[in-house]
Amino acid sequence: METYSAAQKQRLIELNADSTIVNREFETIEERNKCFKMTEKEFIRDNKEKLNRLIEEEHIPLTLRVEDILEDWLTEDEGFTRVATPIIIGADKVKKMNIDNDNHLREQIFWLDGRKCLRPMLAPNLYEVMRDMYRITRKPVRIFEAGSCFRKESQGAQHMNEFTMLNFVELDSVRDGEQMDRLETLARGAMKALDIDDYELVRESSGVYIETLDIEVDGIEIASGAYGPHPLDANWGIFEPWVGIGFGLERIAMVKGGYQTIKRAGKSISYVNGIPLKL
Ligand code: ATP
Ligand code: MG
Repeated sequence: METYSAAQKQRLIELNADSTIVNREFETIEERNKCFKMTEKEFIRDNKEKLNRLIEEEHIPLTLRVEDILEDWLTEDEGFTRVATPIIIGADKVKKMNIDNDNHLREQIFWLDGRKCLRPMLAPNLYEVMRDMYRITRKPVRIFEAGSCFRKESQGAQHMNEFTMLNFVELDSVRDGEQMDRLETLARGAMKALDIDDYELVRESSGVYIETLDIEVDGIEIASGAYGPHPLDANWGIFEPWVGIGFGLERIAMVKGGYQTIKRAGKSISYVNGIPLKL
């Protein structure tokens, strides 16, 4: 039995062929090469059609549309306010998140110099803004940010060094004990807005206070939620109950678009709206 050559497989993956196509078997090399040519041609035609559709009708790539959908849901239906904070953060913030201790994120941070780094998450800045807004208004705070985060990853189909997180946080909106219910309600609301029916909410608890709620689609984690009171809160001057969820926008686009790898959904000069530009 013959299978596609490494170069042929690579090309088919680039064109978003799924594993049944990539791992096809053949009687002879000639048959294989003929099939490759035909399959490649079909995928090129499909991708060209997709590009035309984007240019003529859709105009906004899927990952950015995902951001728009979540933004509309949060601002129009749930009363959240969008904020934008710096991508470059200080080492003191990393310390306050306890990332410098035994956290897997410790090795993943892009340091610019000893005192500054590219943010690996939005939580540190959101903690600060949320606390100050609460101090001024003394009302429940509902804010979110969507923007790039950076982690040194060993790559793979679900990780990129630069990705887009949308993180919302809600402070003093529910009583202590009601946080998990609130998280679930918001997680389900987000999935409804995104038109994703097939998902799982996965609760995990470690320690007394630390309980998390992940949203998974086909075994892929697309978001992680957490709540407080949390052991880190005191570092940030927060003492009221809060809930928050961080969504990976490229992961959502990946599952919605049926992409085999996340790179298709990420910031890129090789792909536009999941379409490879090497056509
Ligand atoms: P994973 O376990 O998949 O590496 P994580 O639990 O470390 O992810 P979180 O800190 O929970 O990630 O970040 C919130 C969300 O951001 C994740 O649920 C995921 O959707 C997304 N995300 C995290 N890291 C990456 C990455 N390197 N590339 C793309 N998306 C990511
Ligand atoms: Mg997570």
